[in-house]
Amino acid sequence: TEEIPTERTNVLETINVPKSQHTFGKPITVLGFTDDFNITVDYDNLRKLLLHPEVQNRKAVTVSIIGAFRKGKSFIMDYFLRFLYAKYKSINNMNEKNRNANWMGKPSDPLTGFSWKSGSERHTSGIVFWSDVFLYDALNGEKYAIYLIDTQGLFDTRTPLQENIKIFGLGTLISSLQIFNLNDVIQEDQLQYLQMATDYARFAVTENKAKGIKGIKAFQNLLFLMRDWKNVEEFNYGLEDGHRYLMDVLQIEDDQPQALQEVRMYIQSSFEKVYCFLMPHPGLKVINNKKYDGRFSEMSVDFRNELSNLVKWLFGPTNLKAKKVFNEELTSKKLFQYMQSYFEVFQM
Ligand code: GDP
Repeated sequence: TEEIPTERTNVLETINVPKSQHTFGKPITVLGFTDDFNITVDYDNLRKLLLHPEVQNRKAVTVSIIGAFRKGKSFIMDYFLRFLYAKYKSINNMNEKNRNANWMGKPSDPLTGFSWKSGSERHTSGIVFWSDVFLYDALNGEKYAIYLIDTQGLFDTRTPLQENIKIFGLGTLISSLQIFNLNDVIQEDQLQYLQMATDYARFAVTENKAKGIKGIKAFQNLLFLMRDWKNVEEFNYGLEDGHRYLMDVLQIEDDQPQALQEVRMYIQSSFEKVYCFLMPHPGLKVINNKKYDGRFSEMSVDFRNELSNLVKWLFGPTNLKAKKVFNEELTSKKLFQYMQSYFEVFQM
């Protein structure tokens, strides 16, 4: 039997991914650093992703994640991918057979995905897009393209602080939602880090169209994703109590040192919305077994339930929020133009 050639351009082909890997995407670096720490942008890759004929006129939903190493970032991202592949058509379109109402699949399915950490780009920091873009046509006619973005290198001792801050800032700038993956509780230095990063990136906004426009927040949505949450007596898992916890942390008190007050005011005034989600510990089988393959049967029931709530909130069809700049929802093409103009400011 002969294979029928398809008309459709396969984005993976255009970025030289071997045929054997076409059933699943891979991480594509779009922004990195030169040896002397200057930003370098791979516009070719960016163009292939955002200006692909299938996606360029769709509203861009850009969900980005950042956080320290060995804190379960890849693990949860692979589950995000599992949800996305189960629920949406993807640009690569080879994964139709994976679409499934029961997104978690079978309890013993090993977790496949990008394991961003095991790629050849492990030692680079940068902004990395997942090569598969997920497509959703809403009932009201709106068409979306969903991008999953990893911003690598935070708190990584190999990477200079300035680089980390740039990555964090620029990743936040281009995302409709930035997820800050943290362990245990929110710490003061993490808030300061966030302030430095957004302060750096804010420059691009003011340099651009923002001139003269008042009252518009520079960044869109931020989610503090708290892993291994313990204090369930006071704040239960999930989004609602997460919000209460966050408001507690961000509360400005008269007797606080000036710097702590400032960082709080800064965060509240920079983002359109800040959220917090409290995740349970995944269970000892997940963290102790060196051979653990990521299957969900080994997760604690609490973790599994909250993971399910989290992905539905993040990526559920009715929850999708496009990237907005100056109150305009951006198509992928427009986002490409913005990214170009933002990055140029920093490449000077
Ligand atoms: P990354 O470096 O942040 O991407 O971390 P990984 O996702 O590779 O996970 C590092 C280790 O933490 C693995 O052994 C995971 O099984 C484990 N892990 C995954 N999720 C969690 C979590 O929520 N809490 C804890 N304590 N460990 C986790």
